[in-house]
Amino acid sequence: MEVNILTLCYLIAAVTFIVGLKMLSHPETARRGNGVAAAGMTLAILGTIFLYKDKDAPGGLHNYSWIFAGILIGGIIGTMAARRVKMTAMPELVSLFNGMGGACAALISLIEFGHLAHNNFETTTVNSVVTDVYVLNNVSTQPVATGTVLIILLGLIIGSISFAGSVIAWGKLNGKIKDYSFRGQHVMNLVLLGLLVLLAAYIIGWLPVHASLYFYLVFAMALIYGVFFVLPIGGADMPVVISLLNSFTGVAAACGGFLYNNKVMLTGGILVGAAGTLLTILMCKAMNRSLGNVLIGSFGSPKGGATQNKTQGLYKEISLADAAVVMAYSNKIMIVPGYGLAVAQAQHVCHELEKLLTEKGVEVRYAIHPVAGRMPGHMNVLLAEADVNYDKLLEMEVANEEFQTTDVVLVLGANDVVNPAAKSDSSSPIYGMPILDVELAKTIIVNKRSMKPGYAGIENDLFFRPKTSMLFGDAKKVLQDLIAEIKNV
Ligand code: NDP
Repeated sequence: MEVNILTLCYLIAAVTFIVGLKMLSHPETARRGNGVAAAGMTLAILGTIFLYKDKDAPGGLHNYSWIFAGILIGGIIGTMAARRVKMTAMPELVSLFNGMGGACAALISLIEFGHLAHNNFETTTVNSVVTDVYVLNNVSTQPVATGTVLIILLGLIIGSISFAGSVIAWGKLNGKIKDYSFRGQHVMNLVLLGLLVLLAAYIIGWLPVHASLYFYLVFAMALIYGVFFVLPIGGADMPVVISLLNSFTGVAAACGGFLYNNKVMLTGGILVGAAGTLLTILMCKAMNRSLGNVLIGSFGSPKGGATQNKTQGLYKEISLADAAVVMAYSNKIMIVPGYGLAVAQAQHVCHELEKLLTEKGVEVRYAIHPVAGRMPGHMNVLLAEADVNYDKLLEMEVANEEFQTTDVVLVLGANDVVNPAAKSDSSSPIYGMPILDVELAKTIIVNKRSMKPGYAGIENDLFFRPKTSMLFGDAKKVLQDLIAEIKNV
């Protein structure tokens, strides 16, 4: 009966994951969706702790002090990290949490392989019988399913790559780790991946005497591959890698579900894996990249670097008063939000400006680039936080059709996503990435604090073009002053 209740708990949890994921697809329901899925996860965890029984643990689990101590310590660290994190550091935190998921999956594999080795491998060497049928506990022969070893190795490899890669991504997002590549890195990555797969196949197919040694070798190689896979990826290509690592963690967790025949773990892992894969495909499309290139970590590094910091000439500035007049007398304005808007925490005041202009009869919309900010959907989340109407957000393709009929584009803390080098300069690290074609509009006003480059570290020719005027200053302060000026127009 208890087993049935546990199955029911798992079923309810699996349904909450699916419902929660669906609710995450809209800003209005996203917060509740997160709560629904979290409640399902709590049910699954508590159900497992109190109701789980099987032949290895007929009386259920007993080590409650260890389990709850772990939950308490992890819970406190997680809550404190999430509460203290600044909104701008959120992408790094998400990357780190993703890495922890990968590490958990790898740990499961390490522990389960340890059990297998303890029960089987020692005896096989004594008996010198090295086949895929192992002697169990010195007594009876019992086959170790090749599938079990396969799943353990898959969880180990994918989880370790996800962990190591996510830690590097975390360092890159907070600026502690710089892009690093060397000649022949592609080849090295491919060779490493090839060796990894061959060694894993050798363990699965032949179960050698020193399987444990080879197993730890696979573990070390997967960690190294994770590091070298993400290290060279720079320019504007991190979003693709981040979503790919996310899907890796899901797949690694699903391996744990297979291993323990735990349906809820399997469902959760597959959902994360599938959602991450879909996001990766969408990001690849948005960045105009192929997934094959992502897998060997070969894109994003500058080809020549000649254009990276070249001085582009003169730019012109616009005063607050002039910007206010131009905007107040426009028919149609497009706001392009970028990472700087998140840094300045200017989303609320930006919404105020939008409302003020709308009251004055101006049509105001937001042009959202898929990789603006530092995590997928960053700008959508930021603007939703300020209650900006979702209908006002235009996706890149739609926005690009609207620019021709736009009077003013107000670029707020965006840089790479409006850089024309992506279209015209084949030596640029962002070459090939689709951008927001703001130049099609009549006037472009760019707000940022200086002429410093954005994430990709390259100059932006847009700032020097005739239609562009710079409005320097912190986005929040500038927007507050702009509102005051427009009220006087
Ligand atoms: P960028 O990083 O290209 O540019 C942001 C600009 O904001 C900077 O040039 C900076 O200039 C300005 N800025 C910073 N603080 C402020 C402030 N307080 N007020 C006003 N301006 C400010 O951002 P984009 O959004 O255009 O592009 C995102 C980049 O990040 C892309 O290259 C993308 O690939 C990458 N990326 C995206 C991820 C994602 O998932 N979305 C993940 C990882 C990377 P200044 O210092 O002069 O003010």
